[in-house]
Amino acid sequence: MLEKLKRMLGVSKKSVYVQDFFSRSNMKSAIYMAIVCIALELWMIYSVTQYVMSTPETEDMEWLISHFGWYVALIAVSVLTLVFASRYLKRKKGNRFTAGVIIRLFSLVSIVFGIHFGYTSFVKGQQILSFITMAVFVFCILTWQPLEAFFYTVAAYGGFYLIANHASPVQYADQVNLFMMWISSFIITLSAYFQKISEGEKSEGLEKLSDEDMLTGIPNMRSFYRNAQEALAEWDDPDHPPAVAFLDLENFKSYNGKFGHRMGDEFLCKIAALFMENLPKGLAARISDDHFVALLNSGKLEEIIWKLREQTRMMTSEVHLDLKTGFFCIRNGESLSVASDRARIACSSIKQKNDRWLCEYDEQLASRHELIQYVINNIDLAIEKGYIRVYYQPVVNCAGEHPGELMGVEVLARWDDPVRGLLSPAAFIGTLEEYRAIDKLDQCIVKQVCQDLRKNLDVGLPVVPCSINFSRLDFELFDVPAFLEAQLEQYQISPQLLDVEITESALSGNLRFLQKNMNALREKGFQSWLDDFGSGYSSLNTLKDFAFDVMKIDMSFLRNFDMNEKSKPILRNMVDLGKQLGMVTLCEGVETKEQFDFLRSIGCQRAQGYYFSKPLPLEQLKESGKWGI
Ligand code: C2E
Ligand code: CA
Ligand code: CA
Repeated sequence: MLEKLKRMLGVSKKSVYVQDFFSRSNMKSAIYMAIVCIALELWMIYSVTQYVMSTPETEDMEWLISHFGWYVALIAVSVLTLVFASRYLKRKKGNRFTAGVIIRLFSLVSIVFGIHFGYTSFVKGQQILSFITMAVFVFCILTWQPLEAFFYTVAAYGGFYLIANHASPVQYADQVNLFMMWISSFIITLSAYFQKISEGEKSEGLEKLSDEDMLTGIPNMRSFYRNAQEALAEWDDPDHPPAVAFLDLENFKSYNGKFGHRMGDEFLCKIAALFMENLPKGLAARISDDHFVALLNSGKLEEIIWKLREQTRMMTSEVHLDLKTGFFCIRNGESLSVASDRARIACSSIKQKNDRWLCEYDEQLASRHELIQYVINNIDLAIEKGYIRVYYQPVVNCAGEHPGELMGVEVLARWDDPVRGLLSPAAFIGTLEEYRAIDKLDQCIVKQVCQDLRKNLDVGLPVVPCSINFSRLDFELFDVPAFLEAQLEQYQISPQLLDVEITESALSGNLRFLQKNMNALREKGFQSWLDDFGSGYSSLNTLKDFAFDVMKIDMSFLRNFDMNEKSKPILRNMVDLGKQLGMVTLCEGVETKEQFDFLRSIGCQRAQGYYFSKPLPLEQLKESGKWGI
């Protein structure tokens, strides 16, 4: 009840936002009013001066001087109002109070001006419009709080009435009219006030909604950017630049998977609350899923993040969660969006790396990132201009009477770039996979291999099967069996000349889908090879679920071959296993005669490695005289 009354009188407590909204709307109106006043009064000065000049009589001169003072006073407060109201709107500090005072001064001068001219006209029995005009001007264009409006209107109308009545008694009809005018002005000020307040409250609600993250209620990216921008403008620690951090809750997917999305959401809310407690106020936000950003002092960053990480990990013992953070220090005026992008890149560079939880975006990361961008931006051009080239590495016979005899070649991609020189697959395969553009490269490679084979066949040179590397994604991005078949048809090549290498790690996704593809390949006469066997996760299961023609034993088993006594029995058993499952066994990475001899002794059928040849372009391979394809 009391609250209602207070609200009606305009003395209830209002949020800073609503107060500001109210003041800003008044300042805007005051600016328009001041401009109108300045223009009008200048015009009045001009026209009155003209008039007096044309009929120079003393009486007129006096009249002019008295009016002149009023006009100048009104222009002066209008200019003041214009200046202070504009400063307020530009959010210059410390002007709210001054602007409020100036607006009241402006109103006072306007009303007194109105009373003065209204009264002088009135006593002459002329119009009283100048007072009414000024009253409407001040009370209907500006918005006043109810109590203030009541006192001001009473003072203005009452003042005018008393002065006018004193000079010449105001007649009954004019009294009624004046009273009606007062009531009308007062009611208009009241309704304008309540309308402004409710507009302000609505806008505040909307503003809050669009500033909050829907799930957790903490600030979102929009409000983070706004607050961080202000914090950057006022940064006063020259020794420690501001840092934008990108925080990622690693393995949160498992939490969702284990407890469901509702619990997952609740957990995220708890995490968000924890972050809010520990990160600088208003300078942290949730930007998507389990990703957060924050602006921190780089001098305190490590300590704060460490603490957060410890607390995050303690929040659940059932899922192995970790907090990974990447950050970027703003040293050269980089924008917030650039800084948060870089922090995100730094964060993703330590994904799945168990020993890393914090990473700064530095020169090394920048050049790695630059290479990624280069690859993505230039892959189409590289294919079009022929910078993507195929290198061939011989696969030789390991068992039987002709050891070292060429049995086939593995096709390996190289990017011979005019700007960056020769790029090895490590520089671009991963990126192309990440950006789902690996199909472009692999299709280009298949085409080139088919062309090379066709050329050799055309001139009657011997040819050997070429095994081509495919990514797991290729099978999602295009119909590999159909594509290969179409190429073979175009170049009139037998499917026995193309083998498909799939890495073991590729087989962890949708098994049924891959099996379908492999069956299709088999039906069309292609062999499927299991690449990097033993390097990955699912080695033995893979063998159970898929039928491969060749098992390529990963080269890691030959590393430290001399030093590690365990290498030999492992290799021996793998070769036996491959054979028992009906696969041809091939060992990669053979670098010495000793290794080759050992592989022969255990019955491995094929070998590949630098001991025989490095991967070479077709011409060089032919020039060496040892190998054709
Ligand atoms: P990978 O299929 O296991 O290829 C064998 C890699 O080992 C090749 O590296 C080859 O140059 C290297 N190598 C061969 N013999 C030896 C040796 O005796 N010692 C040592 N230390 N290394 C040897 P490369 O050409 O850099 O290729 C790296 C990986 O990139 C390949 O591994 C393959 O997974 C991928 N890749 C290459 N070309 C393509 C392609 O056209 N398409 C796709 N999707 N992936 C490709
Ligand atoms: Ca391979
Ligand atoms: Ca391999």
